[in-house]
Amino acid sequence: MQVVFLPDGADLDALSTAYGITLLYPQAKILLPGAASSSFRLALKHFENLLKDKTIKPDSLKEVDTVFLPDSNNIKLAEKKLSPYLKKDTHFVIIDHHPLRGRLSGNIEKHIQNTGAATTIIVNRIKRSGINITPEEATLLALGIYEDTGSFTYNTTTPKDLRAAAYLISKGADLELIRGIIEERIDQEQIEIIHQLVENIQYFFIKNSRIIFTFAYSDHYIPDISSFLHLIKPLQEADAFFVLVNEKGKTSIIARSKKKEIDVGKIMSYLGGGGHYSAASATVKGLTVQEIKNYIETVLLGEAYKNKTIQEFMSTQIITVKKSSKIKQIKELAEKAPVLFVVNGRGKFEGIVLSKVIKESIRHGIEDIKVENFIIDSIITFEPETTLSEAERVVSSSSQEYFPVIKNGYPVGVINRTYIIKVLHGQVFDSEKDIFISRERIKPRYLNYRSKLEKFLPEHILTELEYIGKLSARLGFNTYLVGGIVRDMVLGKKNLDIDLIVEGDALELARAYAKEKKVPCHTFEEFMTAQITLKTGEKIDLATARKETYTHPGAYPKVEKATIKEDLYRRDFTINTLAVELTEGRFGILVDYFNGLKDIKDRMVRILHQLSFIEDPIRILRALRFAGRLGFRLGRPTEKLLKLAVDENMLELAPTGRVNLELTYTFNEEKVIDILFLMNKYRVLHSLIPEFYMDEKREELLSRLRDTIISFEMFLELKVDRVSNYLMALLYHLPFELSYKFLEKYHFSKTIKFFEEYYEIKDLLEKIPEKDSDLYKKIKFIKKDLLVYICASSPVELAERIIRILKKEGERQLLISGKDLKELGIPPSPIYRKILDDVFKKYLDDEIKSKKEALEYVKKQYLGG
Ligand code: ATP
Ligand code: MG
Repeated sequence: MQVVFLPDGADLDALSTAYGITLLYPQAKILLPGAASSSFRLALKHFENLLKDKTIKPDSLKEVDTVFLPDSNNIKLAEKKLSPYLKKDTHFVIIDHHPLRGRLSGNIEKHIQNTGAATTIIVNRIKRSGINITPEEATLLALGIYEDTGSFTYNTTTPKDLRAAAYLISKGADLELIRGIIEERIDQEQIEIIHQLVENIQYFFIKNSRIIFTFAYSDHYIPDISSFLHLIKPLQEADAFFVLVNEKGKTSIIARSKKKEIDVGKIMSYLGGGGHYSAASATVKGLTVQEIKNYIETVLLGEAYKNKTIQEFMSTQIITVKKSSKIKQIKELAEKAPVLFVVNGRGKFEGIVLSKVIKESIRHGIEDIKVENFIIDSIITFEPETTLSEAERVVSSSSQEYFPVIKNGYPVGVINRTYIIKVLHGQVFDSEKDIFISRERIKPRYLNYRSKLEKFLPEHILTELEYIGKLSARLGFNTYLVGGIVRDMVLGKKNLDIDLIVEGDALELARAYAKEKKVPCHTFEEFMTAQITLKTGEKIDLATARKETYTHPGAYPKVEKATIKEDLYRRDFTINTLAVELTEGRFGILVDYFNGLKDIKDRMVRILHQLSFIEDPIRILRALRFAGRLGFRLGRPTEKLLKLAVDENMLELAPTGRVNLELTYTFNEEKVIDILFLMNKYRVLHSLIPEFYMDEKREELLSRLRDTIISFEMFLELKVDRVSNYLMALLYHLPFELSYKFLEKYHFSKTIKFFEEYYEIKDLLEKIPEKDSDLYKKIKFIKKDLLVYICASSPVELAERIIRILKKEGERQLLISGKDLKELGIPPSPIYRKILDDVFKKYLDDEIKSKKEALEYVKKQYLGG
């Protein structure tokens, strides 16, 4: 076969010459280059039809008899590239206008002339041979001549070039098309970039590879950079290169590699791009060229470090403590290292404690407890021989910060997660999470919750939330729906408590909304919160995302603006850390930073860090309230730490107003009994109430109280004071003075009245009258709320009687009224009251059962028949 060989970087003159060759030698097929300039590629596209049957793919190559070299005399290169197909006597034909360097030997035919373009040589031969050419072919041929003579302006132009062109024009060559293609070639700006790239070349050596970094800046977009990189020789010679072109802060990266172990596709994928191991690209915003370079270098180093072992990097300075040590004994050790190793009597590893937790615990005045309370024992450990790449796999799927290194059961070192990631990737993901939490996700999870919002929120509220999202985007803020409403949506429950967190300024957002919608808005500068009222009356709470930091031990927390993640981190439980973004463009995206979704699915209440209950003991009550309400369990460390906080009497330190609120919420929960049983199990009630005990009697009282409340509310249509009733059930063992003290301490002033009244009437029912009408006389002055308690704490039979009486009381008006008496012809007078009371008394005692009987009775008794 006959092949026309075009090397990488071949130009338009070579292409035109190659085509001319195929006209003279119809058997010859063109082998196109792998890389070519943009004008070359443009020409290929324009002349696709002409070239279609004239080219050959590398994989269709067979034994080659003749190789044509258009616009080139580099036989060596052709021999190298085509070597598997060459024969001993393969014939080489050179058609070139460059002077020959050195002597050539072998079976070579040379057509070398001193013309401006190689194409001129081939056109002259075509002209002489009398082959007819079409206007399209004339155009393709002319292209090479125009290109290589700079449209006849270069000094190298000869009369022959002009004559050849004249001939092609006479055959119909399309000059406008030629100009179009030629003008496409590298312009001044691209040359400027090439200069920068050449000047800025930096070498980076790793193992035995030579890698080039180079960069250029431009104030606007430069197309097609990759098409002229072949012009930069050092790049072609390096084992790999990274070209960074920064256009107004956005950096395009082009990467090539000749070695499989330098996988530029993978490296670019870390930067959000992609490609093949040998050719890849990425576009990066928000990082400087230098930062990107540093990043790539560390990744390259990381790849090289992959097989190194942990022992080469770990810190061997470890401090050990005993499980049984008191916190105060290890105060000083905690200053020396971020983690302490807990070991047994023989020095074997049992777990770790975090120094931060020790210090915070002391700050909260808790120092007499043992280390074992804060031990973290279900923990991932490494062996000294673990390789960094094995470690990386573990590290990236765990949120553990410190990894003990253990040999034969003994601690030998420690390495932290950020360090491993830094060695391997040169990037630290997140270092603020220092107090141990098992819950944080390495990468937040995102879900589209738009349809859930549509399902669970009334349309008009959804519309307003979208409006707030738009407004928020306009102000440059991010706004999220957070808290119970999101948790309940995941659980499939309705909740219309709308709490928003604003990354930015909640007050400004609230004011802007109120102004545009002409609705009321209240702001609380000090707390960085605001409340707006929708036109339809619903209220929306907005708060600026914040974090609390302690400036020195014992100080009040300082409130600072923060990110949504930091805001969510200070919340009580993981199930309450979900947020749904409302900002325009991301409306409806749920974000899960702390595995809240998983915990809801697993039905678990978990705190976010070890000191959670100590920092805010109210969370003890909240944990049990959520566990009871939702039927969730406490996570294992959460349970342990809750017990610890109760044992340490932390509830004693909780603000009494907040205890009041939590208990009030509890008594109004549907699952109040479950919650109270949990509060008994974890000795929370014992901690709050003097001499509290739970026995069968109280258990029964509590569940009867719940049933009685339901009966009263259903049949008598009233709202029962649950708080007072349950408090009575929890405090009845105490003498009044002690109950009073408790109620006063926790601000249950309404319940104090309830207790007082109860103790007044308590003895009234010592003797229970037989007739319902007599019983009624006793109870009719007692408040219904008190009757609830009386029913729940009395024998069932009595309770049933009271409820029946109260029901009848409710029906009194239906039985017989003043109007009925008037119709019977009785003139209005105080006798009415006497008659009505009399009838009702008979009704209570079942002597009268209906309105009909009542009327008959009145006629007989008062109208003489
Ligand atoms: P509910 O359905 O009872 O209203 P909720 O989760 O909305 O449940 P709220 O008392 O309304 O509870 O509190 C709103 C949010 O504020 C909670 O979801 C929680 O994230 C956070 N929060 C409330 N109290 C605390 C606390 N003591 N510590 C930390 N975060 C808290
Ligand atoms: Mg709420």
